[in-house]
This record gives sequence, C-alpha cells and structure tokens, in this order.
Amino acid sequence: MTHSLIDTLGPEKTRIAVSDDASGLVDSFSRSISYLRLSVTDRCDLRCTYCMPERMNFLPKKDVLSFEELVQITDAFISRGITKLRITGGEPLLRRDMLSLMERLSRRLDDGGLKELCLTTNGTQLAKHAADLARFGVRRVNVSLDTLDRQTFFRLTRRDVLADVLRGLDAAREAGLKVKINTVALADANRDEIPQIIEWAHKQAFDISLIEVMPMGEGVAGRPASYLSLQDVRADLEKSWTLTDDAYSSGGPSRYVRVGETSGRLGFISPLSHNFCSDCNRVRMTCTGRLYTCLGHEDGADLRQALRDDPTLEKLHRAVETAVRFKPERHDFDVRTLADPASPRTMSTTGG
Ligand code: SAM
Ligand code: SF4
Repeated sequence: MTHSLIDTLGPEKTRIAVSDDASGLVDSFSRSISYLRLSVTDRCDLRCTYCMPERMNFLPKKDVLSFEELVQITDAFISRGITKLRITGGEPLLRRDMLSLMERLSRRLDDGGLKELCLTTNGTQLAKHAADLARFGVRRVNVSLDTLDRQTFFRLTRRDVLADVLRGLDAAREAGLKVKINTVALADANRDEIPQIIEWAHKQAFDISLIEVMPMGEGVAGRPASYLSLQDVRADLEKSWTLTDDAYSSGGPSRYVRVGETSGRLGFISPLSHNFCSDCNRVRMTCTGRLYTCLGHEDGADLRQALRDDPTLEKLHRAVETAVRFKPERHDFDVRTLADPASPRTMSTTGG
C-alpha cells in the first residue's frame, strides 16, 4: 500500500509502522494535522523576483488534477480531521472556472466538515471575484503585497498592476472579507517602506504579516541580498512603536504583536531567524496531487497516483497516513541556504 512513499523516503526511514487507525492525522512528534494548503495551479500572472524567474516552465495542463479529483482528495482529508482549507497556488484565481470549485468546497462548510475555507492571492483578480468568494463562505483572504509604490511593485513583480491589486482590496472590503496583507521583508526593495505599509494596512483595518524570504526553488538569483531578518525589523520598529505580544493565532505560522500607535495587529513569519516547526499543524498538496509534509523537505506522497490506482480510496488514505507519520521534525532553512536552496520547488509550485 505504501510503496510510492517508501520509495521516496529511502530504507532508513521505513522503521515506522503504518497505522490502520482511521481517525485523525497525527505525526510521529505528536503534532495533529488539521490544516491543508491546496494549490490549484502553478501558473501566475506575476513574476515576483524572489519566487520565480521571468521565464518559468509551468506544468502541462494534463498533469494538473481535475476539480473532481481535488474535491475527492479534499473530502478524504476532511474525513481525517482537516478542518481548515486554504486555497493557494500559483495564483489560484487564474484557474479557469475557479469559482465553481469554491462553490463545491463551500458545501463542506455547510455540512460542518470544514470550519474554515480561505484563500491566498496576489489580488490581481480579486476585484472580479471578491463578492463570489464571500458568497461561497470565504471569510478571510490573505493578499500578498510587498510595496505600495508603483515602480517598486513593477520591479518586484515584473508587472505594472499595483492598481489592480488595490482595486481588488477595495472589493474585498466591500464584500465583507477580512483581509490580511502578507509582505515579504526585502533588504533590497522595501526595508524602508515597511513602517509605512504597516500604517497603511492598519488604517484600512487589515491585519498584516511580515515574512522572511525563504530558500525555495532554483533559478532565482539574488535571494541572499534580499534577506532581511525579522528580528532586526522588529528591533527597528520598536525604536518608534510600542509592540505588545498578542496571543491571537490564525492557525498559521504568524506570531502576533499589537502596535500601540496604530492599534493594529502585526504578524511575524520568521522561518529563518526563529523556527516555529514545533507546533506545525499543516501539510500542502500541489496541483498535481503531490503531498508535501514540510516546506523544506521532499518527503511526501503521490496522491494522484494513489487515487487513480484505487477508486476505493484505501490506497489514498494509507499514503496520507504514512506521509503524515514521516512529517519531518523541522525544516533546515538557514541564511546560508538562500543561495543554494534545499528544495528545487518554488513556493508557487508547492503552494505557499
Ligand atoms: N500567488 C499567490 C500570492 O502571491 O499570494 C499565492 C501563492 S504565493 C507562492 C504565496 C506566498 O508565498 C506569497 O505571500 C509570496 O510572497 C510568498 N512567497 C513566494 N516565494 C517566497 C519565498 N521564496 N520566500 C518567502 N515567501 C515567498
Ligand atoms: Fe505569483 Fe504569488 Fe509567486 Fe508572486 S509570490 S510570482 S504572485 S505565485
């Protein structure tokens, strides 16, 4: 039942027995897995310099899971205790007929299988889709935005579409969606702008999280020069602001503070300077059905093959269980690996 997984793991890791327990998913470090990030496409209309090269080789469409398959696999995860589902990519809103997938997934909110259905997007298509996303039960969207300056946006994303993203954010607010801005902190692009972006987000009543650039994917030059430690950013912000630790958690890796001067919430996602793997509750699946249990490791399982081999879904369940059992304790991201990433997968392929 577990051949495909064992093959990817190597013999030294085959020591853990496969469980027949059909209940929740718990890894060998006693972490319960309740959160699935599902990438629905690897394609994107932007080319963020830290994420992918301008000439990106996208997957052939035939390799991408159909909506039917995505729903089947999602249902299998829900039956094993996944309660939070984040749709991501690539740019998820670029996938054709995406709203019909959201409509189908939203039925699992209605029947209580899911507690939360949310989305991460670059915002370029949000003006078109925000109202429908709200109609299909999405309450929160994460919108990635690294600058409010048109020229810097163009330099960072290689596309001149900041105005579309800002229109998308207005539409999200009008649709009643709760927005969190995700901003990658970049020494060579937005370091000086960070306080201004935080103030802007808080004025709009958006939460905001800062993210450290991660060593994900080959073919991206310049990451070492971009890296900015969030410990340094926090120390800089504390020179003029009062930051108070906040116990709030969105179920993700952000650690939050309240900014006294803006009364807003600010998150830090700092996988390099401060590792939070000990309470990791998530796994990721690519749009081709490859399950990854850690951003920084290749361990996982081929769920597309498992699904296609065995319509009873038994093989799929076994593959998921075993992959979760082998979820690595932690990633080994390190400033030194920025020039030579441990993982050849870009974040856009894995589902950030
Ligand atoms: N296209 C959508 C977007 O940009 O929100 C969803 C997918 S994107 C891969 C998800 C998140 O990953 C974005 O916030 C992006 O900034 C972040 N990201 C991409 N590559 C990264 C890297 N190498 N290090 C840190 N964050 C990265
Ligand atoms: Fe596209 Fe998101 Fe990657 Fe930017 S970070 S290139 S928007 S997938």
